[in-house]
Amino acid sequence: MIVAIDGPAGSGKSTVAKAMATREHLTYLDTGAMYRSVTLACMRRGCDLASDDEVVSIAKRCDISFTDGGTKVLLDGEDVSADIRTAEVDACVSRVSSISEVRRLMVATQRRLASNGDVVAEGRDIGTVVFPEAEVKVFLVADPEARAHRRAVQRDGGDEATGKAGNVDAAEEKAVLDDLRRRDELDSTRKTSPLVAADDAVRIDSTSLSVDQVCDRIHDLIEAARAKGESEPETKPDHKEEGDVRSETKPAKVASRRDAKAAPKPMRAFHNVRDDYFDHGMREFPWPSRAIFNIAAAIVWALSKIWWRWSFENEDEFIEHVKGHGSVIVMNHVSMVEPVVTVVMMWAHGIRVRAIYKTEFDSNALTRWVFSRVGGIPVDRGSADLKAIRRAQRALERGECVLIYPEGTRIKSDDEEVEMHGGFSLMAQLARTDVVPMAVVGARDVTPKGHHFPRPLRVFLSIGRPISFEQLGVKGRKASLAAMEEKAMHDVFELRDALRREHPGKE
Ligand code: C5P
Repeated sequence: MIVAIDGPAGSGKSTVAKAMATREHLTYLDTGAMYRSVTLACMRRGCDLASDDEVVSIAKRCDISFTDGGTKVLLDGEDVSADIRTAEVDACVSRVSSISEVRRLMVATQRRLASNGDVVAEGRDIGTVVFPEAEVKVFLVADPEARAHRRAVQRDGGDEATGKAGNVDAAEEKAVLDDLRRRDELDSTRKTSPLVAADDAVRIDSTSLSVDQVCDRIHDLIEAARAKGESEPETKPDHKEEGDVRSETKPAKVASRRDAKAAPKPMRAFHNVRDDYFDHGMREFPWPSRAIFNIAAAIVWALSKIWWRWSFENEDEFIEHVKGHGSVIVMNHVSMVEPVVTVVMMWAHGIRVRAIYKTEFDSNALTRWVFSRVGGIPVDRGSADLKAIRRAQRALERGECVLIYPEGTRIKSDDEEVEMHGGFSLMAQLARTDVVPMAVVGARDVTPKGHHFPRPLRVFLSIGRPISFEQLGVKGRKASLAAMEEKAMHDVFELRDALRREHPGKE
C-alpha cells in the first residue's frame, strides 16, 4: 500500500503522515527533509546556490538516510533533524528543489527507500511523479494563516498538532506567513514537478479539522483502496523502472485487517456514538432504537397506506430476491413519499434497508438523530464521500439493502437539468452485488409548491429486474461501473414511463 500525501508547507502533512504510518504500520517517508538536507549541505559547504552545477555536485555526494521510524534524518551519518528546520534552510530550500537534476537524484533515493512497497510518503510531487501509481493520494490544504500559526508554534517548541504554545508573537507569525507564501509560489510555479494535486488525489482541507479527523478520512480512503484492490485482479503496470516500488501481489495482512474492521464492537443499550449506527447492522442496534423504529414504521406503514394507497408492482419477486441478500436500490426522486413508503414496505416484509441521505439534513438536530436511528447513511454530495460508500458497502455485505436516489435531490419537473450521482454503481461493485431499479409516479403531486401538508393522492411504484455486473458483460472496472450507471438509470426511467402510461395524469 502506497499512501501519497502532498500539499503546501504547513498544511499538516508531517503530523498526519507520521500518525498514519504508525496507525497503518507503514514506512514513513519525509521527502521534504531530503531537499532540506541537500540545502543544508550546500550552505555548510559555502556553495553558490545560484549555480545548478555546484548544487548538483553536492547533492550527488550527500548520503541521506532516516532512523527512528523515519522521524530522524541523517546526513552523511549525522543527525540533522533540527538543523534542517531553521529559517535559513526555509529560505533556500525551494531554490535547491527547483533544480531538475537534484529532483531526479532525490526521486531515485525516495523510490529505493520505499522499496518494501508499504509506505506513507509526504511531499509536493509524490502522487504526480514519485509514486503516480499510489493506491491512496491525498492533497492536504489549509488556510495560509492556519498554516503559518502551526509552523510558528512548531518553531517555538509547541505542539503543531494542537496549536498549543506559550509565546508565539504576531510579528513572528507574520514572518512565517510571508515565508510560506513565498515558498508556495516558488514550489507551485517551478518548471520541474511543481506543487499540484494529482488528478486522482482527494483534497482534504485541514483548516478546521483535528489531526484525528484528517487521519480518519485517510484511513477510510485506505480501506476503500484495499477493498477495491481485492475486488479487481492486480494488473501489471505499463512501464516499470528500476527501483520502482509497485507491489505485484496484495499482502496477506490486508484481509485480516479488513476482517477485524468488519466486526466492530457490539453496541450498548445506551450511550452509543452516532457513528455506531452507521457502522452496525440495523438488527444490531440497541433495543430502545429498534423498538422506536418498529413502532414508528408500523404507524407510518398504516397511515401512508390509508393516505396514499400506495402499491408496488412486482413486490413479491423483489422480496424473494432480497431475502438475506443486499441489493442496491435506485429510484427516481420526486418527493419524500417514495423513500418513506419503500422503507416501510420492506420493513413489513422483515427486510432492512439503509437509505442514503444528503448531509444537509444533518444540520437539523432532530432529523440528524432520527435518520441515524432509522438506518440512514449520510453522504456528502460535494465530494467523493468514500466513507459513505464504505458504510454502504458493509451494509450490503451484511445482507442489508441500500436505497439511493442518484438524482441527488427531489426533481419537481421533467424539464429540470439533473446531475446523476454514480456512487451507487461503485457501492454495488465493491460489495459484489446487483442493482435493482425502482420507479414512482403520483408522488410529485402530493406536496406541490405552496402545500406543506401532504395531500391524500394515490401513489404507484414499480420494481424492475435486478441488474448484475456479470449480465452487463463489460470488461474493466471503470467501464463496467459506467455501464451499470447507465443501464440502471435507463431502467428506472423506463419503469417510470410505463407507470405513467398505466396511470395517465400521474407524475
Ligand atoms: O515539506 P517541507 O516543508 O519540509 O519541504 C521543504 C521544501 O522541499 C519545499 O518547500 C519544497 O521546495 C521542497 N520539496 C519538494 N518536493 C517534495 C518535498 C519537498 O520540492 N516532494
